[in-house]
Amino acid sequence: MIPLNAPHWQTTDWQQQYRDMIRSPEQLWQRLALDPGDRPDIQTALADFPLRVTEAFVAKMQPGDWSDPLLLQILPQAQELNDQPGYSNDPLQEAASNPVPGLIHKYRGRVLMVTTPACAVHCRYCFRRAFPYNDNRASQDDWRAALDYISAHPEINEVILSGGDPLSAPDDYLHQLVDRLAALPQINTLRLHTRLPLVLPARITHGLIDALTRPQLHTVIVVHANHPNEIDSDTVTALLELKRAGFTLLNQSVLLKGVNDCAKTLTSLSKQLFDCGVLPYYLHVLDKVNGAGHFHVDDAKAQQIMQQLLASLPGYLVPRLVREEPGQRSKTPLALR
Ligand code: SF4
Repeated sequence: MIPLNAPHWQTTDWQQQYRDMIRSPEQLWQRLALDPGDRPDIQTALADFPLRVTEAFVAKMQPGDWSDPLLLQILPQAQELNDQPGYSNDPLQEAASNPVPGLIHKYRGRVLMVTTPACAVHCRYCFRRAFPYNDNRASQDDWRAALDYISAHPEINEVILSGGDPLSAPDDYLHQLVDRLAALPQINTLRLHTRLPLVLPARITHGLIDALTRPQLHTVIVVHANHPNEIDSDTVTALLELKRAGFTLLNQSVLLKGVNDCAKTLTSLSKQLFDCGVLPYYLHVLDKVNGAGHFHVDDAKAQQIMQQLLASLPGYLVPRLVREEPGQRSKTPLALR
């Protein structure tokens, strides 16, 4: 139930909240009582990757705190413009696995459909921050080519809806797409990767659940939570709604310097997710995309954190530490020392 003194944004539907998202640094400074006086350089990073964040996500940040772990995930920083060796615009070389527009085929039994370029938040570490979405618009016209490709590869039994964020698409769009996928007899699993239960929990509606539910499909939702502060009561409600619908819920995080590179934070995240019916799946080391180098955590520290997680959590709450390497047939687990 929405409290009587709820802020305006909380009383509007998800589409309105999406339209009203914060797009200018000035709005963000005002909303979080931040003085940008000592950070004049932030504007320089915006041309490359604009600022986007919902009120629902900003509401989880601590006003006045430049080092808030949620703010750091969306804060443009001048250091994004520093060229770093080993970093590129396409760190996973997805262009080499893009047989038809809007479809990426890297692993044998599954393909990824770029459902929409839109996101309700721009994560500064995103490995697709420079993805050529204009060449990969999966419009309804493009579905035919993608569906024909899947039909011609009978070993594919899982379709992953990604983006952008697939839940940014309207219900009727998703409904039609899932209808088309469910009509392919080889497909038994539908997977969606999304941040919306965290950044726009109002998106989780009965209409959305109807759009995604088919009796012949396992539906797996992978949320991308990086920090326990992302899980407030609205997110708990949204995740429990998805759980009640019978979906399998998993989480994958990216290990981010200054945000979650600490075993205590990740332990708390796993426990809070479990309370909402979500199991930890992957902890990714950073993909080396241009502009994200300031988030890098070295392997030795990542392995040390994992040892601490193993000592403090039951095995089923410990995510697998992995790296994605171009050309490999699966994610690469990092050996623990
Ligand atoms: S695709 Fe995911 S990680 Fe990238 S900006 Fe959108 S929500 Fe963030």
